[in-house]
Formats: sequence, structure tokens, C-alpha cells
Amino acid sequence: MTDHETTPGADRQPVDVDAKLALDRFELDEGYAHVVVGDDADDAVFDHLVTLCPAGLYKRGPAGERLFDHAGCLECGTCRIEGAP
Ligand code: SF4
Repeated sequence: MTDHETTPGADRQPVDVDAKLALDRFELDEGYAHVVVGDDADDAVFDHLVTLCPAGLYKRGPAGERLFDHAGCLECGTCRIEGAP
């Protein structure tokens, strides 16, 4: 009797996670931002998102203006939870 006959899954190859992740592709819809920062968004909430967004998409410009670019969004949902009114 061999190992794969006695141990369930023993004949399976390990998954190469890095190779699998390299296959992920995101297609950006330039004409539709799925995340929008409203003009009336609270400054404190915006600054909170500056620190929370894992993609670093919420930023303050040199004059303190709000900068946001949805193009690099990882769709983690953090801003939906933390930034929702
Ligand atoms: S969903 Fe996540 S990655 Fe995308 S903008 Fe919100 S916090 Fe950033």
C-alpha cells in the first residue's frame, strides 16, 4: 500500500500561490469610477482613509487638497466600511 492510497490528498501537488496570483488581471473601466469621494466628504474621514487604504489611493496634495485615483483600487472594501456616511 502506498502513501496516496492511505493518506487522502497525499498525491496532490502543492499549489504555487505566486504563480496563481500572477495570473490575476484587472481591467479598469476608465469611464466609471466605482469609488468616488464626494465634495462634501468629511475631512477627518478622508484623512482616516489616507492611513487605511492599502493601495495608498487617498492622499493630500502639497496645498492640502484631497487627491484620489480609483485606478489602483484593490477592492478591499475598507473605504466602504470606514468611509460610509
Ligand atoms: S476599496 Fe480598498 S483599495 Fe479600493 S479605494 Fe477603498 S480602501 Fe482603497
